[in-house]
Amino acid sequence: MTDCIFCRIASGEIPCRKVYEDEEILAFHDINPVAPVHFMLVPKLHLASLAEAEETHAALLGKMLLLAPRLAGEQGLANGFRTVINTGRGGGQEVFHLHIHVIGGGNIPPMVRRN
Ligand code: AMP
Ligand code: ZN
Repeated sequence: MTDCIFCRIASGEIPCRKVYEDEEILAFHDINPVAPVHFMLVPKLHLASLAEAEETHAALLGKMLLLAPRLAGEQGLANGFRTVINTGRGGGQEVFHLHIHVIGGGNIPPMVRRN
């Protein structure tokens, strides 16, 4: 038993709309999407955030990043997409199990604006 909602999704205890799964990674649609396509990649291993990642996680993180464009393409985002990793309360993170948001298919405003 764990209190972590993404661990419970990864174990199958809580259902999700699955996009992809292998032995290390699960991808599923966000329950509250901000764009027509919005899914997340999560490691099955519990890692609270990117700030807790260490050298031993390098291959896993690389695999997740390389999966993002492949899954985005399969979800109809061949023209492009945005990836977001919120880290810590200061980064707006709400679920403390590392995840990469993949967002697209709509009108995506510039992420960073300068005056
Ligand atoms: P973050 O602010 O980066 O921690 O984002 C957490 C995301 O998880 C939010 O976009 C939520 O909509 C999403 N989320 C929370 N619970 C679930 C769930 N049970 N299934 C799918 N997505 C979820
Ligand atoms: Zn977890």
